[in-house]
Amino acid sequence: MNQVILSKKINCILPQTQCQLCDYPSCLDYAKAIAKNEANISKCHPGGIDTLKKISELTGQPWHEYEQKVKTQYKTPSAVTIDEETCIGCTKCITACPVDAIIGSSKQMHSIITTECTGCDLCIPVCPVDCIITKPTDKSKHNTSYLQDRFIAKTERIKANNLNKIQKHNKKKLGATTQNKQEIIKARQDAILAALSRVKEKQGL
Ligand code: SF4
Ligand code: SF4
Ligand code: SF4
Repeated sequence: MNQVILSKKINCILPQTQCQLCDYPSCLDYAKAIAKNEANISKCHPGGIDTLKKISELTGQPWHEYEQKVKTQYKTPSAVTIDEETCIGCTKCITACPVDAIIGSSKQMHSIITTECTGCDLCIPVCPVDCIITKPTDKSKHNTSYLQDRFIAKTERIKANNLNKIQKHNKKKLGATTQNKQEIIKARQDAILAALSRVKEKQGL
């Protein structure tokens, strides 16, 4: 099968959480890497065993050898909420959200559109006052095609408006000192874990 067609088909199977836990900047980037045989099929954390099996069917890569890894790394569905009393209205979470699931404006309280939130957690580390809280949720009804459209729309808007400005901001916030894409993603993941740990400590969990 043609690589472009294969990557599109794989992308349709992926959850469209855009969480970057696969070490790629988006679901589509991971799909392209699989189609090019540059990545194995075990890297999607929210996809779980179902996604693994479906991609295996499409690519011919065996799924059995990844079964344990995929079960262990599985990220259960979640969505975030904002502690609105603590929010200072800095708008940083709006910039970070890949699917425009946050509403608010400068110096105003922000809110999550829960039905749109993919649980990617990318907004958590950018919040300067750690007021974004993640909770388990049932996301089995998530419309991945709809989320994909929202991600594309957001990505195009960023490109058109201020991609350079956002990249500079993210690098500064996350302390990334390299242009290397994988290292920037790793720094982002570490920042998410650190912020989650601060929020849990605050809540006494
Ligand atoms: S859902 Fe997250 S881990 Fe899975 S392919 Fe998309 S970005 Fe990667
Ligand atoms: S609100 Fe936060 S967790 Fe939800 S999709 Fe947006 S960035 Fe991801
Ligand atoms: S990043 Fe935090 S403080 Fe800033 S607007 Fe979002 S929730 Fe409010």
